[in-house]
Amino acid sequence: MQVPARIDNWIDGSSRPARSGSVMDVVDPATGARVCSMAAAGAADVADAQAAAARAFVAWGARPAAERAELLDRLADLVERNLERLATLESIDSGKPLALARSVDIPRAASNLRFFAEAVRAWQPDEEYRTAHAHSRVIRRPAGVAGCISPWNLPLYLFTWKIAPALAAGCTVVAKPSEETPMTAAALGELSAEAGFPAGVLNVVHGRGPECGAAVVAHPSIPVITFTGGTETGARIMQTAGPMFKRVALELGGKNPTIVFEDADFEAALSGAVRAGFQNQGQICLCGSRVLVQRGIYERFRDAFVERVRALRVGDPLEAGTEQGSLVSQAHQTKVSAAVERARAEGGRVLCGGRAPDAAALPERVRGGAYWLPTVIDGLPMGCATNQEEIFGPVVTIQPFDDDREAVALANQSTFGLAANVWTGSHARGMAVAERLEFGIVWINAWLLRDLRVPFGGVKRSGVGREGGDEALRFFTEPKSVTWPA
Ligand code: NAD
Repeated sequence: MQVPARIDNWIDGSSRPARSGSVMDVVDPATGARVCSMAAAGAADVADAQAAAARAFVAWGARPAAERAELLDRLADLVERNLERLATLESIDSGKPLALARSVDIPRAASNLRFFAEAVRAWQPDEEYRTAHAHSRVIRRPAGVAGCISPWNLPLYLFTWKIAPALAAGCTVVAKPSEETPMTAAALGELSAEAGFPAGVLNVVHGRGPECGAAVVAHPSIPVITFTGGTETGARIMQTAGPMFKRVALELGGKNPTIVFEDADFEAALSGAVRAGFQNQGQICLCGSRVLVQRGIYERFRDAFVERVRALRVGDPLEAGTEQGSLVSQAHQTKVSAAVERARAEGGRVLCGGRAPDAAALPERVRGGAYWLPTVIDGLPMGCATNQEEIFGPVVTIQPFDDDREAVALANQSTFGLAANVWTGSHARGMAVAERLEFGIVWINAWLLRDLRVPFGGVKRSGVGREGGDEALRFFTEPKSVTWPA
């Protein structure tokens, strides 16, 4: 396979090792084998990337939106043309099933680029206001160099979700993908040159969060920071960026409810709850990890749910038919394992999974992988740590509720507020429940159904700001109000 021998930073239109010469290993979590090395960038590399981005900003920010859009479309074409290669790299890097990377991650990366190309073509950023006394015009200009920091769970998908609106709006970018999954972002840097992006418009720096990521946040001339990742990291970013008065958007963790009412289409709710709980091994911020089921159907639903989850095919991510791949790393598997031990200690009953698969049950190639069997646990109160803390793995709790009021109260009993999914035969009931749910996103009879124009993001400890559509384009621009007498 076309795994690069080494991954370097992409700065000012070319590949460069870290100035310090530091490297780190890139590991395939499904096998435990090292696949290549990558640059471990630090503040000096970030400074180089920022300088290149600042130079490129002069022309890029002034370029007509239609020309920027044209380049984003060309990059989307190249992502599509390289779909198989990128999907394979994504699978090797993250442990996710190749089929998922091929059908979701990479196509969505292309559609992110296309979506923001189209959005900026249609965007009318300037506004006009008149009173009897004053005439005002609000002009919006790109904010400068944007720092885009992304996580490992949906690597190219979330990387492009950040850089596409930044580039469309006229910012130049210093992007920092997760050190767990650098490969597709590195490939995209190179593809951007092939698409015709001028040097310095998109820069990609690789390395550890506390060194490379922190240097992006701390750089005094990167005024805009968009981050997707863990809540604790988000808090650290705020501590640095706050006193520097940077504009910050944070998409953070979740502990999302799946709410199933008795009047729901049973089969649709069942397959929806399984997908919401376990897609990408439960490593999606939007995953429904707290399943709440109305009491009248609780036992029937729980039993059917467990049966479906037990039947999920855990295996080699590269093999067709694998539904559950490896977790992202051995370290993450250790965390998931500790979370399940804690659930047991809290009195939870493990209904399926609850352990790593037997090595003999896995294909030989992946016996050294960071696997965890999809796990369902019941018997836990909502206030316990298992139900309050994000596990970010294939671990779901299930519990009953009596009525709409209790469903909403249980769902809202969380310090997170990212996404809820509600299953009911009554749209009016779904809307009434949605009104009372303290979440930034609510799906009714769906999960991960996206219209990229609608605001995306969470409340409480799930973050600040919204991505998507015009919200994102506004985020990367600075308004200036100009007023004169009428
Ligand atoms: P993480 O916070 O460990 O890392 C995310 C990124 O931040 C990585 O690129 C990392 O290198 C960088 N980073 C780490 N420390 C940093 C620091 N001090 N300064 C600057 N950058 C730093 O998160 P992760 O483990 O990669 O991702 C999993 C988390 O992301 C989960 O909590 C998940 O819920 C969240 N997530 C949220 C969304 C959303 O849209 N709300 C989407 C996906 C993932």
